[in-house]
Amino acid sequence: MPRQPIYLDNQATTAVDPRVLAAMLPYFTETYGNPHSNGHPYGWEANEALEQSRSEVAALIGADAREIVFTSGATEACNIAIRGVAQAEKKRRARGGRSRIVTLATEHACVLSPCADLAREGWEVVVLPVGRDGIVDLDAFAEAVDERTLLVSAMLANNEIGVLQPIAEISAICRANGATLHTDATQAIGKIPVDVHALGVDLLGLSAHKFYGPMGIGALYVRWRPKVKLAPLASGGGQERGIRPGTAPVPLAAGLGEACRIAGAEMATDARRIRRLTERLWDGLRQRCPQATLYGHPSLRIPGNLSVGFPGQSGEKIVDAVSRHVAISTGSACSSSEAKPSYVLAALGIGAEAAQSTVRLSVGRFNTEAEMDAASIWLSKKTNVPSYEQSGTSRAFVA
Ligand SMILES: *Cc1c(COP(=O)(O)O)cnc(C)c1O
Repeated sequence: MPRQPIYLDNQATTAVDPRVLAAMLPYFTETYGNPHSNGHPYGWEANEALEQSRSEVAALIGADAREIVFTSGATEACNIAIRGVAQAEKKRRARGGRSRIVTLATEHACVLSPCADLAREGWEVVVLPVGRDGIVDLDAFAEAVDERTLLVSAMLANNEIGVLQPIAEISAICRANGATLHTDATQAIGKIPVDVHALGVDLLGLSAHKFYGPMGIGALYVRWRPKVKLAPLASGGGQERGIRPGTAPVPLAAGLGEACRIAGAEMATDARRIRRLTERLWDGLRQRCPQATLYGHPSLRIPGNLSVGFPGQSGEKIVDAVSRHVAISTGSACSSSEAKPSYVLAALGIGAEAAQSTVRLSVGRFNTEAEMDAASIWLSKKTNVPSYEQSGTSRAFVA
């Protein structure tokens, strides 16, 4: 029997890879210097680790090390990107500069919330809808972006439904209009190849704990040339090019670097394995619950995500009913405490009832085939789907 509850909430956070933990430990206890102390070996070695990590992050996304700014996670990275670009343009806006910010209805709260704040501060914020498959309509996007558009923030992969936005196409439209493009790539990093030049982005946010690194560290890619105009949100010692002052957490950075190194080396095999596991889980579920519905684009998606609706059921009740056996969530971890249905699912136009009936299953590096089989059995047992009872297979169930 696999260890229970089976962890299928890898889009909320992932276990730290043992190799990542090993890479971090010396920086807590041995090489504990301040990376900005330049008078002794403790500081030099810490600084070396910090710069090594910066290079690993840069290499994973096709960037230059000087374009990487360490942050506390994706929430801070996205806030610095969005608020920072707006702040840097503020004076010009008053003199007739760019005043529009365009984003998508299915963005993470760490993008939508700063955008809503900026709307209250007088920026014209346009939140574009997505289609039933979760993907933005490029014609509607092209119409919303013009020469008055300062910033576009569009996520690469969605945290609830896993779908991928056409960032390269979005970038072409931004370029044609001189708009800066930020992408929240938190759910894509480590799962699919991400290259800032192929995507054509100016700013990109990521977080270590979504790909087997530690919680509490992330990074913001800030394009060097053409230079992105970015005002810092905090002031202090001027670290991280002044964009994110404060002492960088060296142990966490070492972990992020190692997570990036592993992702770069093993992403293809990891993705193949996770895709196979996810298909196995989905096949098992569909077999046992023929009514189960998969939301989001069928192929333009990251490996590992299943957003599954169980018609007539309550997603919240399912999560609760299986919680001792399978660890899943209804939507994003950040909004699932709210009783209302996920705004991401609502944006698909599937209706409130279907949205309420949906759970997110997310498969990761440390899951196994046996876990997929056990999870689909537990889920079908606890979702009480009538056809399951009729099929007689429930009798064969072994706890
Ligand atoms: C988890 C997540 C975030 C927030 O990341 P933190 O590092 O926890 O702040 C932002 N965007 C997406 C898409 C996420 O999945």
